[in-house]
Amino acid sequence: MNVPERMRAAVLHGKEDVRVETMPVPRPAAGELLLKIGAALTCGTDLKVFRRGYHAAMIKPPSVFGHECAGTVAAVGDGARFAPGDRVVVANSAPCGTCYFCARAQENLCEDLQFLNGAYAEYLRVPERFVRKNAYAVPAGLPFEHAAMTEPLACVVHGLDETAPKAGERVAVIGLGPIGLMFVALLRERGCRVAGVGRHAPRLDLARKLGAETVLEADANGAWMEQMRQGERLDVVIEATGLPEVWAQAIGLVRRGGRVNLFGGCPDGTTVALDTKRMHYDQITLFSSFHHRPADIQAALGAIARGTVKPADFITEEHALDALPGLFAEMLRTKRQVKACIRP
Ligand SMILES: [Zn+2]
Ligand SMILES: [Zn+2]
Repeated sequence: MNVPERMRAAVLHGKEDVRVETMPVPRPAAGELLLKIGAALTCGTDLKVFRRGYHAAMIKPPSVFGHECAGTVAAVGDGARFAPGDRVVVANSAPCGTCYFCARAQENLCEDLQFLNGAYAEYLRVPERFVRKNAYAVPAGLPFEHAAMTEPLACVVHGLDETAPKAGERVAVIGLGPIGLMFVALLRERGCRVAGVGRHAPRLDLARKLGAETVLEADANGAWMEQMRQGERLDVVIEATGLPEVWAQAIGLVRRGGRVNLFGGCPDGTTVALDTKRMHYDQITLFSSFHHRPADIQAALGAIARGTVKPADFITEEHALDALPGLFAEMLRTKRQVKACIRP
């Protein structure tokens, strides 16, 4: 493959400031890959980062931006595990494999977890550890934009693995962004009965389409909470908004003996008060699953390849790279899109 000298790439400069710029195409060192991006997907985390201007763990500006992608290997460094022309999906993090947490299959908590950004670009250099630990061949016939949904789906796979909802259990998903909607899809696949709560009509419709039997609009006065309480008991509640007040609501909604996954990460420094009587005498179990492990990435790619989760349900539009800054500004305002595909 002929690799040019220069490329276009989106750079995050700060709060609501993303620019598409021209820069040199990186060259892969030993063990590394250069990926020609086939498709990159927008993500709720990117929107959050765009609004705040940084992410404490994952990205400090100025930095190339975007983390959900798949593409074709354009060049390889010595000893890399793939060959030019291979279709590859890479996760946005790579664990060290040797620390206390990695030794306990909790690679998401790795003491030296490295993050990869730069999906919104024509080319992405994939560092050696990512190639070794968390890059995978895209199954034949699977479009890049479908493979690119592996990473967010892996977070959901991780959350379900910990919460372990069983067939027939009634599960509420609060927050119907892309992550909440992926929960709906995988919960249905497990035979759970799902109630979804969200704000935006297209997303409520998609929750229904994905098989939620109850879909409620999250009104400001909390009428949805009352409706939820009057319905059948909830065995499991998944919180997918990242708002402390919704964390508290989620704990309040689950049945006695139920499980709650506080899945949405809240802003730094926020706290939630716990009703000790409720927690103990009603025997509530809390989970708060963060990120994903390589095994979750593999399971998510498998679920996409098998058609258990259909990325086409989630990817509501497609744009060129130059449209990205305007698209982010619009996504913050309208929440019309679930996920958008960027084709650099
Ligand atoms: Zn993401
Ligand atoms: Zn580690």
